[in-house]
Amino acid sequence: MPHRAFIGVGSNLGDRRANVAEALARMAEIPETRVARTSSLYESEPHGVAKNLFVNMVVELETDLSAVDMLSRLADIEDQMGRKRAKPKAKPAPAAKGKAAKAPAKKDVSRLIDLDILFFNTEVVNTPKLRVPHPEIPRRRFVLMPLAEVAPQLVHPETGLTVSKMLATTEDRKRVVLMPPR
Ligand code: AMP
Repeated sequence: MPHRAFIGVGSNLGDRRANVAEALARMAEIPETRVARTSSLYESEPHGVAKNLFVNMVVELETDLSAVDMLSRLADIEDQMGRKRAKPKAKPAPAAKGKAAKAPAKKDVSRLIDLDILFFNTEVVNTPKLRVPHPEIPRRRFVLMPLAEVAPQLVHPETGLTVSKMLATTEDRKRVVLMPPR
């Protein structure tokens, strides 16, 4: 039996719809993995310091990869897409003779796509690198709305709450609207 993974996809820079579509196409190419379902696209008010509205979607994958291997495949997609389009802020300092130039810290890189593992079967993982179910799910309407479209009866393995129940009871008041299809 393949594993059933739900992936949260978000973009708030550049051509957001195209970024989400590209991430989906790249996820479909992950080995031993197939796209089972996709939600509609939603537009959501940002949390935190970001100013631009996000485009969000949830993708259900069937995969033979482990959660950790899936995380590293998703990070590769984020890096490839970020690196391809991100504009460097300043010219990097030349590397000292004989030493490789230091890569910028990940938080400094402009990322056009964010891919999170929301659920992975009913697994509970709590390591520094990976937390599953994603801890923000109950506080993120932009995740719960698309998730409720594809898997309303999915049960959170730690709280026992369904996605529908979490959506009905979340305290997140940020605006999330269904985007018209193009
Ligand atoms: P972010 O910048 O919000 O995409 O966070 C990326 C970091 O979160 C990565 O270094 C991951 O190792 C870590 N992380 C922990 N749990 C998860 C998860 N469920 N899905 C994606 N990234 C995760």
